[in-house]
Formats: sequence, C-alpha cells, structure tokens
Amino acid sequence: MTTSSASKVRVRFAPSPTGSLHIGGLRTALFNYFFARSRGGTFVLRIEDTDQTRFVRDAERNILSGLAWVGIRPDEGSREGGEFGPYRQSQRQALYALYAQQLIDEGHAYYAFDTLDEIDVMRERHASEGDPSPQYDAVTRGEMTNSLVLPGEEVQRRLERGDEYVIRLKADPGGRITFRDHIRGRVSFSTSGIDDQVLIKSDGMPTYHLANVIDDHDMRITHVIRGEEWLSSVPKHILLYRAFGWEPPEMAHMPLIMNPGGKGKLSKRHAAAQGLPVTVEQCRQAGYEPEAVVNFLALLGWHPGEDRELFTLDEMTELFSLDRVSGGGVQFDVRKLNWFNQQYVRGFSVDELLERAEFWLRGLHSASTVDLFKDEARQRRIASLMQPRIAFAKDLAETGGYFFEDPAAYDETAVGKRWKEDSAELLSVYADRLEAASAFDAEQAEAILRALAEERGAGAGRIIHPVRLAVSGVPGGPSLFEMMEVLGKDVCARRIRKAVEVLG
Ligand code: GLU
Repeated sequence: MTTSSASKVRVRFAPSPTGSLHIGGLRTALFNYFFARSRGGTFVLRIEDTDQTRFVRDAERNILSGLAWVGIRPDEGSREGGEFGPYRQSQRQALYALYAQQLIDEGHAYYAFDTLDEIDVMRERHASEGDPSPQYDAVTRGEMTNSLVLPGEEVQRRLERGDEYVIRLKADPGGRITFRDHIRGRVSFSTSGIDDQVLIKSDGMPTYHLANVIDDHDMRITHVIRGEEWLSSVPKHILLYRAFGWEPPEMAHMPLIMNPGGKGKLSKRHAAAQGLPVTVEQCRQAGYEPEAVVNFLALLGWHPGEDRELFTLDEMTELFSLDRVSGGGVQFDVRKLNWFNQQYVRGFSVDELLERAEFWLRGLHSASTVDLFKDEARQRRIASLMQPRIAFAKDLAETGGYFFEDPAAYDETAVGKRWKEDSAELLSVYADRLEAASAFDAEQAEAILRALAEERGAGAGRIIHPVRLAVSGVPGGPSLFEMMEVLGKDVCARRIRKAVEVLG
C-alpha cells in the first residue's frame, strides 16, 4: 500500500432514503467509518435517491440524525458538501446521461423501445423447462425493438418523436467474473445468467447499478464495504466497470444480520412481531444509549481480537480491520443489546446518568408530587441508589418512579404476601413516631422501626416489608431507609398513612 494521495482510502455509506435508518444500515455506516478512520481515509455519505417510487420524505434527515446520534460525521456528504459532489444522486442525473451516452457511442449499450408487454411475449415465446424465465440478453435481443436491430434513421426518428425507451448494457455472454472480496475471499460468478441490464430507465433516471458504479468511480471510492445482500450485484457492476474501462474498487461484503434463532435475514415484519428495535429511531425511543448500540452493532460480525467486549467508538476505530470481519451470518440477540446497555448505564458517572435520564424524567414526572427537580443533591442520591439496579437510564424515571410520585397502586402479589392483619396498626404508629422525631435520616428511620418491632415482639421484616410497599408501591428496590431519607419525613409519613387508609 503506498501512501500517495491517489491511493488514499475513500469509502462511502450509500443509503437509499426509503425509510428510517435500519440498524443494518447503521452497522454498514460504522464499518465504513471505522475503516476510513483506521486508515486515515475519508468517509463519504451518498444519498441514493434515484428510485422515485420508493422515496420517503424526511428519510435523509432521519439517516443524518441517526448517524449524528451515534457520533459519526461524514467527511463529505449531502450536508457537508465536498470536492466530488453533489452527493445526492437525484442531482447527478446529467452525469449519468453523459456516461450512458459514452457507452452507447462505444457500442457497449443500446436504446431499447420495447414495452413491458412485448418483453412478456418474448419471455413466453422462449420459456422452456430448462429456462422458465428467459431474459433480455444476447439470446433474445436480436428479436426485440432496439437500436442494435433497427436502422439508424428509425432509432433517430423514435428518439426525436419522444418514444419511451430505456438504455441497456450489451452484456457479453459465456464468461466468468472472479474477484477477491476482503471478507468472503475469492468469489466467482458465471456471466451467463446476467441480462442486458437497464442502465437508464424510461423516466430518465439511472438504475441503482449504473449510478452506483459511476459514483463510486467518480467519487474515487477505493473500498466498497456493504451488506452481503449486494454481493450478487457485483458481477453486473464489474461488467459496467469493464465497459467503461475503469478499475473496480476493492470489495468487502459484510455478513447478514439474521432474525433471532437464525432463520433468514432480519426482517421488519419479524422484528415488529417480536418487538425488537430495528431502526435507530426505535432504539432511541426504547431508551438505548448510543454507545451500547454502536458497541453491539460493531461486534455483529467483527472480532476485535481481544476478550473484552466493551469498546468506545475511538477504540474500535483504532482496532478495526476488515480481515477480522467474519463471513457467516450473525444473529440479532436483543438480550445482548440489553446487556451492553446495562454495562454502559452502570458505568456512567452519576451526573452522566442523570443527563441521559433527564428526557425521561421530564417526560414522566414533570408534574411530580415530590419536588426533586430543583434539588440536585437529592437527584444524585437517587441516581446512585438506582444505578446498580437498572439497565436503562429511563428506568430511573420508570422503575424509580416512586421517587417522584406517590404510588398510584400497590403491587397486588406483594400486598397478598406482606400486608398482614396488624400492618395498618404498626404502620400508623410508625408514621406517628417518624413525625414526632426531631431528626430524620436513614439511621433514624431504621432505629425507630427496629425499636417499634422489638417493643411488639415482631421481626423487623414485619414492618419493613409493608413500609416498603406503602412508600414505593412495589416489593423490591434500593435500601428502604436510604430511600426514605431521600424522600424526606413528610412524604414518607404521608405515603404510609395513605397505604393504611387504602389497604386497611
Ligand atoms: N443504495 C444501496 C442501499 O440502499 C447501496 C448499496 C451499496 O452500498 O452499493 O443499500
């Protein structure tokens, strides 16, 4: 590898704006980003929006904000600009037309005027047991209405008249295409299955194949790193590179992300049925941290070569290499994603955790009955009490909701098990004594409770469990007395009296 500017690494993430950024797309972006950064190269974002029928408004914004959320920024792209723009294919139509014309002029492509019906008729005519769906190719093109068959003046007349046409590549049959893929090794395809692919559609737009090849060449892309679903397009692309007389970029096709259980490519439908977050937006809405999503996705197919599993974006960038990406499909295991999230959430500083939780706290408890929002010290105590028990920052607001609101209900199973006949009476006395106490903190709350238990000859648990229920509504959580200290005397007494009234 030389280091001249001609061989400087340039990679691209080339999503089609057809919907929300999928996690598979984000993984592709990440691997490209890691590769570019690890090689001192450039990461390009190209928007492949030539298929007008699949275009979704706002999809581009969604893609950009998904990338920004995980902290990756293209060096060149539709928003950043750059030397090789525009970076939106719909704005490059003139370039594709020029190149398509070049192929026609050099005899590598031709105009085809056939209607879809005419192509169907041809298919029926040629269909046989051995070849149930014949194609528009070297075998059949001679019988069709195209510029290889029609006299030149007739072609000209049709073009001037404005007849609908497509431009097709004149693919030579009977060869083999072999290339080396960085992940899959040597790959070989026969060209006999390849038709005379459409390059320019009747609406004047290029097909994915044409635009993709022209842009990868024109934007000086050195490595194409993308999902395995594109592997079968490579032969078509190589035929195009040959027709243009260009050198194809190096290729790396990443393993597919499979449905949990390993059956087939991860599908939106399957994911929806299982409630799995498969778009970046869904991950955000479900409360995943970007660091966890990135770490999880990076290890879907890439082995860093170390035993540990937690890596920052920078560390992964440093360690990344394509030869550590495996070829086999990888499973989307949401438990693993949750585990990563838990690791990050537990590793945050308390202030960081609070910052991540703020959105959820404000959303759920803006009308809090306990005014903790103004008290930062108390917020920090809540966060550190909860941190070892949660997997999501939003759990601070959800699981820990009792820090902000009086319980609206009491866990029924726990009530059945823990609320005894004497609970109401014991708790009333406890509340009286709490209120009467001169000082209130965890130690005091505990001492008063234990003294009461001893006096009545009851185990402390007989009071602790119902008090916990009264104060939080649920059976588990952080140390009861610490929790009570954070809540304060008045709130605790109020909640205990309320439970006595409700549960009797
Ligand atoms: N536009 C294609 C996609 O949506 C790009 C495939 C490629 O990277 O060549 O994934």
